Amino acid sequence: EAKEAGRNTYKFYTAEMTQQALEHSFVQSALRDALEQSQFFVTYQPQLRIKDYSMVGVEALVRWQHPERGLIPPDSFIPIAENSGLIRELGAWILRTACEQGVQWLNEQVNFGRIYVNVSATQLHDESFTEAVIMCLKETGFPAEKLGLEVTESFIMKDPQHAINVLSSFKEIGIELAIDDFGTGYSSLSYLKQLPIDKLKIDQSFIRDIPDDPNDMAIAEAVIAMGKALNLEVIAEGVESQIQADFLLDKECTEVQGYLYAHPLTADAFSEWEKQRDIK
Ligand code: C2E
Ligand code: MG
Ligand code: MG
Ligand code: MG
Repeated sequence: EAKEAGRNTYKFYTAEMTQQALEHSFVQSALRDALEQSQFFVTYQPQLRIKDYSMVGVEALVRWQHPERGLIPPDSFIPIAENSGLIRELGAWILRTACEQGVQWLNEQVNFGRIYVNVSATQLHDESFTEAVIMCLKETGFPAEKLGLEVTESFIMKDPQHAINVLSSFKEIGIELAIDDFGTGYSSLSYLKQLPIDKLKIDQSFIRDIPDDPNDMAIAEAVIAMGKALNLEVIAEGVESQIQADFLLDKECTEVQGYLYAHPLTADAFSEWEKQRDIK
């Protein structure tokens, strides 16, 4: 604390830091109310096969509609929910909401492929998480084969052997696994080979500046080649332009997700989108 460190340290507090501290404590205390007052909702962004635009799945992306502050993006509250531990409850709610939605879509014959849910390292480190996922599937009646989980590279590399165990337990029951934000962490290639994963998601920071940044293009190409060599699907996220899509097709990337195809959509908007497009 600045106060404890001494009289002169006050000058290190900038207006911006005060603002950040305020934001942080606002979010932290408001998160719990938000859960109780149902201020969260889940959007779904289509993921398509690059060759024929057929449905691979949808990524569940949480949104926070605050009554006074409006729509708050996940980057502003997920890290805080992780630090405070509230991600356990929030994550459980997101998973359940996605599974219930999936059951409804199955009943209505909406073709959504799989639903991919983001899970944070905090959730994955919980001893009871695997059991909670199994319970959720059982209670909602959503089939495990229709669920995918997106895990981050940083979770895997923190304790690779533990990650192999946790991920294997999901794989065994038929849940698909993808490594999110791939390329931003430090995955060791030897672990990558041992992990029971199905898919690599190239981080959007490597897609954004295609075709202007040759380094990003080289990285994207290398990830695609590595996925191919390891027999993994590779999905590019954040695809916004046809030039990027053409590049990815040329390098034999298998799947795409991005504003070029569809934004994250509410459940109703997704089923409309899916019914109206002519590619199935
Ligand atoms: P992510 O899992 O890597 O999700 C992809 C992000 O890219 C999403 O941002 C999505 O809306 C955005 N995106 C998709 N296509 C495009 C595009 O063409 N251009 C651009 N500029 N962006 C695109 P979003 O929804 O704001 O989520 C940000 C991050 O927050 C996610 O990154 C994920 O790390 C976290 N997050 C979101 N929902 C959840 C959740 O339910 N649980 C957890 N644990 N984390 C979540
Ligand atoms: Mg994701
Ligand atoms: Mg990602
Ligand atoms: Mg990301």
